[in-house]
Amino acid sequence: MSKPKKEYDLVIIGSGPGGYVAALRAAQLNMKTALIEKYPTLGGTCLNVGCIPSKALLDSSEHYHKAAESFSDHGIDLKQLKVNMPQMIKRKDEVVSQTCKGVEFLMKKNKVDVFYGWGSFVDAHTVKVKGDKEEALLGAKKIIIATGSKPNTPPSFNYDKKRVITSTEALNIEKLPAKMVVVGGGVIGLELGSVFARLGTEVHVIEYMDTILPGMDPDCSKELMKSMKKLGVKFHLSHGVNKVESTARNVKVEFSEKDKDKAQKLTADYCLVSIGRKPYTEGLGLENAGLKTDDRGRISVNEYLQTEVEHIYAIGDVVRGAMLAHKAEEEGVFAAEKIAGQKPHIDYNLIPSVVYTWPEFAAVGETEDQLKERGIEYKVGKFPFKALGRSRASGDTEGLVKIIADKKTDEVLGVHIVGARAADLIAQSVAVMEYRGSAEDIARMSHAHPTYAEAVKEAALAATENRALHI
Ligand code: FAD
Ligand code: NAD
Repeated sequence: MSKPKKEYDLVIIGSGPGGYVAALRAAQLNMKTALIEKYPTLGGTCLNVGCIPSKALLDSSEHYHKAAESFSDHGIDLKQLKVNMPQMIKRKDEVVSQTCKGVEFLMKKNKVDVFYGWGSFVDAHTVKVKGDKEEALLGAKKIIIATGSKPNTPPSFNYDKKRVITSTEALNIEKLPAKMVVVGGGVIGLELGSVFARLGTEVHVIEYMDTILPGMDPDCSKELMKSMKKLGVKFHLSHGVNKVESTARNVKVEFSEKDKDKAQKLTADYCLVSIGRKPYTEGLGLENAGLKTDDRGRISVNEYLQTEVEHIYAIGDVVRGAMLAHKAEEEGVFAAEKIAGQKPHIDYNLIPSVVYTWPEFAAVGETEDQLKERGIEYKVGKFPFKALGRSRASGDTEGLVKIIADKKTDEVLGVHIVGARAADLIAQSVAVMEYRGSAEDIARMSHAHPTYAEAVKEAALAATENRALHI
């Protein structure tokens, strides 16, 4: 039986990086806040089956790959190197568990009430939480929907979680597969494809478009593809999947080049479906609150992240925009501050994207194609990592930095990096662009030597007046 209704200033449904960060900010702003999560651990996709576990496996597999491929160049000889997959997965699970517990601790510390169970709208001001053992009714002045997303698995892929899998299952494979077909050359396909390719799996990526990472800078995409080919990944660009059939022991994938009849077949241990994610609103009872989803399943929001029902906000993967943890976090802070009467701001153009392959691929701002489309005149400065002393010292010589600046004003409009530690390097460019700095601003800043960051300075020099020094 339901207990009496508990009243809150703010009820948040979903504890991913959008929801839990919104809860923290709301608590800082003195709101009585409740957070609802249907799983027994907090942190959502990102902490449980996304960013954190994938990065743990990316790091472990990169250590193995380096030990196998380049330690001997450094004068380190190892004998009998082998992958211990169960240990790799165990370590990943420990990292996930520690991180999720960290969120639980933060909720307690900030006096956020956490309710474990399925959240659904009773009406526009009431949310029911159906837990394993009991139900709760929460009354709310304001509500934030932060229910995230799920992998897109169209019926034709025959997703069975055993041989036809998504990232969620791929993160728990305990026996190293001999062969894996990855459908989709996007972020998940390339990151998880890298994990298995580094450990020795034969990885085939089938991508519908004529490039990996469509929409990102083509020069950088090509450079990354070159590196991944060296790793042994086989790419089938401009190909679509016709049929996926699995047995207990393997999976057969039939695919063909776009607009051509001749089909190819691959038999593999797994077929990883990574063709995008879709917003998740199942069982939320949106209709009880007077809400509906758009044609892509997203909850529509205005510039303030308010839904059609003013006091109900929605953030993160369940609304428009990039499906990124840090975008969800920014929106969590935004929504909490807006509810508290503040005037927050998010510049969506300055939310960086990172692909955690090796080399990493990081970008912020606009691409050349986007600028062309907007009719903006621009100039480009490029610098290859191989010309850096730091890169030669470490042996990480692949990749380049590309800086795009306004032709007249020199304002930095886009930065695209493929290279060692690009994920961390991009933060400087975000800062410069946030202050509307110029390529010359970056070029005149002192960058420590020897660092990978010097490649950013050199690319900025190249963009300024073709003044790169070390090339
Ligand atoms: P989610 O993290 O999806 O959280 C939503 C939560 O709501 C879930 O816990 C869900 O159980 C809960 N929920 C849903 N409905 C209900 C309900 N009715 N009642 C109660 N609870 C409910 N992004 C990055 O920026 N960097 C990365 O490196 C990165 N790596 C990724 C790797 C993988 C393999 C995947 C799959 C994703 C990755 N992402 C990454 C994307 C990132 O995980 C998402 O963008 C982010 O988690 C979105 O946050 P969110 O809060 O909107 O939703
Ligand atoms: P994605 O949108 O990045 O890539 C999907 C790819 O699949 C695209 O290249 C698309 O052209 C291709 N595709 C679509 N349908 C296809 C088909 N039928 N056959 C062949 N190819 C097809 O999606 P994803 O890799 O599944 O990732 C989902 C989301 O998770 C992304 O929005 C991403 O932002 C987020 N994510 C982010 C990170 C990160 O920030 N490092 C890591 C993992 C996931």
